[in-house]
Amino acid sequence: MGAGDYYEVLGIPRTADDKEIKKAYRGLARKYHPDVCKDPGSEERFKEINEAYSVLSDSQKKSQYDNLGHTNFTNASKGQYSGAGGPSGGGGFSADFSGFGDIFDFFGGSYGSSRGPRGPQSGNDVLMRMQISLEEAVAGVDKEIQLMHNEPCPTCNGTGSETKKLHTCKRCNGSGQLQQMSQTVFGQFVRMTTCNECMGRGRVPEKKCPGCKGSGHTRANRTLSVHIPAGIDTGMRLRMEGYGEAGDTGAPSGDLFIEVQVRSHSRFVRSGDTLETTLEISPAQAVLGSSETIETIDHKHVDLTIPEGVQHHTALKIPGEGVKRRGKPGDLLVRLKIVIPKTVTPEQRECYQKILQAEGKHPGNSKKGIFSGLRGKK
Ligand SMILES: [Zn+2]
Ligand SMILES: [Zn+2]
Repeated sequence: MGAGDYYEVLGIPRTADDKEIKKAYRGLARKYHPDVCKDPGSEERFKEINEAYSVLSDSQKKSQYDNLGHTNFTNASKGQYSGAGGPSGGGGFSADFSGFGDIFDFFGGSYGSSRGPRGPQSGNDVLMRMQISLEEAVAGVDKEIQLMHNEPCPTCNGTGSETKKLHTCKRCNGSGQLQQMSQTVFGQFVRMTTCNECMGRGRVPEKKCPGCKGSGHTRANRTLSVHIPAGIDTGMRLRMEGYGEAGDTGAPSGDLFIEVQVRSHSRFVRSGDTLETTLEISPAQAVLGSSETIETIDHKHVDLTIPEGVQHHTALKIPGEGVKRRGKPGDLLVRLKIVIPKTVTPEQRECYQKILQAEGKHPGNSKKGIFSGLRGKK
């Protein structure tokens, strides 16, 4: 599936505020909810609507979406298979596999995996979580991932039948459903259940394929290369269309979603596109002004001028050294921390004493401590 621009999906202008977004979503979700709307394609539409809303209703995701654009936000540049098998490599990320329900948890329940029992069903989507470093998120990175998923069986072209032919299921006459009668004290009840001969598909292999035992799928371990665009942030998902689980014959495969988690960094804290780091300076540097060299996240060395009389906790800006995304990169903020020396050299002590005198203040006697100072006031 390939959703278009999220604003277009919801039919709202890019300037829409929270209320308008919510209103548009509610209207459309009600209209296309699969329990309500039986039009072909409405289910896809419902998914798109929910996907669009999940992003645009989250202010952080929305600003990332606005900044990155639709393609970068939703799509890893199309991945490529680089052959089957291989040892599981590519450390630094953890993967887990689950069905659709985990991805759009606000759908509630098992929507997406339990469709009507009739007809070929498209494959489940797969969610994979990946951890990347802040450096990688800032600059973008190409990653290789190992993916274990179902693919159409090559022996039978995914039909499950050695002859590639399918027969109508005799048990359910192709309906995929069976009627179950039960007699109770309240009367006779008819219950519909999924046909266990064809598993609801309505058709059975003419001769079961020995390669996949009639399922039409084989498990395959694939290596994928994924491009993670610069500017990505925790919670954002890349979609690799068609890399999820294989569907029934004739139905599309699901998608692979890669959810990114950006690890915290020892020197930099991220807030949107802005990075922040802390610089410790001495009282003299703060009073007189100074200059320091700052190492940026991509290991550049930038000279920073500290102005005279700067106050503790002031942030100095280095433009363009924040998160690099296409268009306008963010800034680097250098937060100043004025550190009072706990010990001083005799020379420094002399200097500080002179400053104290110049300020017209009296020197204390640190050796005796605060209590003797109080006693001295008698
Ligand atoms: Zn059947
Ligand atoms: Zn097969």
